[in-house]
Amino acid sequence: MRLVIMGPPGAGKGTQAVMIAEEYSIPHISTGDIFRKNLKEGTPLGLKAKEYMDKGLLVPDEVVVEIVKDRLVKDDCKDGFLLDGFPRTVAQANALDHVLEDMNMGLDKVINIDVDKDVLIQRAVGRRVCAGCGATYHVRFNPSKKVGECDVCAGKVIQRDDDREETVVKRIEVYLEQTLPLIQYYKSRGLLVSINGEHEIQRVFEDITRAVGSGSE
Ligand code: ADP
Ligand code: ADP
Ligand code: ZN
Repeated sequence: MRLVIMGPPGAGKGTQAVMIAEEYSIPHISTGDIFRKNLKEGTPLGLKAKEYMDKGLLVPDEVVVEIVKDRLVKDDCKDGFLLDGFPRTVAQANALDHVLEDMNMGLDKVINIDVDKDVLIQRAVGRRVCAGCGATYHVRFNPSKKVGECDVCAGKVIQRDDDREETVVKRIEVYLEQTLPLIQYYKSRGLLVSINGEHEIQRVFEDITRAVGSGSE
């Protein structure tokens, strides 16, 4: 299965992506996670990305595209993958089409998670992540069992720098301007499945797997 999951910041992409990747046994490729990992390791890429991330802006297309290209040629992507948070611009979507064409591949589905703006802000501002393994929690909707401690690895659960309300509002603006056009882009190619992301986590997951199917049809 070759999948993309898209939606505004805080829609639940990452939460669902972990579950979908397991369900279909495909690697979960999150460009946001790649940038955060690089930042943690202090690489030049991480430092460059941070300049944009802290302002709620998109990292330049050419930087992101190179990273995704390098990732998709790895062996574990041969039988499928799930891209989370990429593409985010029409230029990135075009670049992805070319990369996949060169590999004689195409996307099976693009999952679009739809959530109202007020809910997005609540979700992103209440989001907490594990500094160790990246697991995602929410202070109200999906808390870790012990406050501040990750259920998976016992790492420290913290707030992302870019999840402050003013940055979240900016990120939603950037989404509406630069990423929203992708809905039409994938709709016109017959790839889009839109999912109501306002239900609870398990229900959203069931709706996604029902819409995506087993991949054999
Ligand atoms: P969210 O899950 O809230 O949508 P992500 O973790 O996907 O956020 O992304 C965090 C930040 O990383 C973005 O605000 C942006 O600065 C950068 N980023 C991630 N993916 C991309 C991309 N495909 N293109 C440009 N910037 C990106
Ligand atoms: P994205 O990757 O799209 O930015 P996340 O998966 O990180 O979104 O989810 C944003 C926040 O909302 C997290 O704190 C997560 O625990 C919470 N969340 C995700 N899905 C739901 C849901 N269906 N209902 C309530 N909270 C959710
Ligand atoms: Zn953890």
